[in-house]
Amino acid sequence: MKFLITGGLGFIGTNLIKFLLEEYDHEILNIDKVSYASNFYYNKNFSSNNLYKFVKGDICDNNLIIKILNEFNPNFIMNLAAESHVDKSISGPEAFIHSNIIGTFNLLKNTKDYWNNLSREKRKDFRFLHISTDEVYGSLDDGGLFNELSPYQPNSPYAASKASSDHLVRAWNKTYGLPTIISNCSNNYGPHQYPEKLIPLVILNALKNKPLPLYGDGLQIRDWLHVKDHVRALYKIITRGKIGETYNIGANNQISNIKLVQTICSFLDSEITNKPKNVTSFSELITYIQDRPGHDICYGIDAEKLSKSLDWKPEIDFKIGIEETIKWYVSNNFRY
Ligand code: NAD
Repeated sequence: MKFLITGGLGFIGTNLIKFLLEEYDHEILNIDKVSYASNFYYNKNFSSNNLYKFVKGDICDNNLIIKILNEFNPNFIMNLAAESHVDKSISGPEAFIHSNIIGTFNLLKNTKDYWNNLSREKRKDFRFLHISTDEVYGSLDDGGLFNELSPYQPNSPYAASKASSDHLVRAWNKTYGLPTIISNCSNNYGPHQYPEKLIPLVILNALKNKPLPLYGDGLQIRDWLHVKDHVRALYKIITRGKIGETYNIGANNQISNIKLVQTICSFLDSEITNKPKNVTSFSELITYIQDRPGHDICYGIDAEKLSKSLDWKPEIDFKIGIEETIKWYVSNNFRY
């Protein structure tokens, strides 16, 4: 099978491509514009594989997308290309509108033309999977969990741009019959994540004796999913998921930001013998900063639909996953 992956140099994309090449004999074409978040360190695991091709380019580039579709002839498209950092979407939303909305529109428009010209057999098996976030559902202020029927209530420019792209994907299925599927997942973690995101930021700041910033009271709750469990779910969804459906992906690991940061600190306390001067415990570096505007209080995913219909369940226990992740950052001291 031929997989066209967009944003395949990002945190999830590199893990996905590594998984596809290690577990199967699929051909991959990765289109990525190459941004600050692109990961050429992890990419070395597969960049010389004969089944892997890379094109540097923007998913908003109309002619490039037409060329790639017609020359590569994918059976599956997985759209991960996006601006992904909420803080950046607040200070500079334009890039999020460009990549996340216009980019998805450009892919859908050209994929529809490509799909219409396929043979009957290939048309039937073709799928377009759009990778999205639980942040489209807003905040769970009164408890409960998000399921696939939860209303869309995005609160940040990032979440709104992803919600908008989800709606376009849905519309291309309902209006044009394009075989699309949407997945909405919770916060991912694991080695090789760009250190703007909470877990690597805290680990690397601690190692440099820098403040560990926590927004507001730090009581915001996130639901953590190991990136390896995520990519296994994505493969099940694109190969066996139902056209026109949405699947939520989460591993039932709700934890407050403060608890998470304290967990990282106490693990680092036990791992690092030569602590910075004047630091008895890394938790002394925790620094509360002014809350982020529009900050969601709580996310949590009900992944029952995915586990029942596609027989997926997370395999990586959070305690083991987070400790391995911390150890990886400590021994690699983060390289891109
Ligand atoms: P990332 O920021 O690590 O990587 C994104 C990649 O997309 C980068 O390599 C970037 O260069 C590329 N890209 C951005 N705009 C592009 C464009 N216009 N054309 C081509 N390439 C472009 O992101 P990630 O964490 O790997 O997330 C991947 C997807 O999963 C995103 O769509 C994101 O919204 C979604 N998601 C991520 C998380 C998470 O916790 N990381 C959670 C839920 C959903």
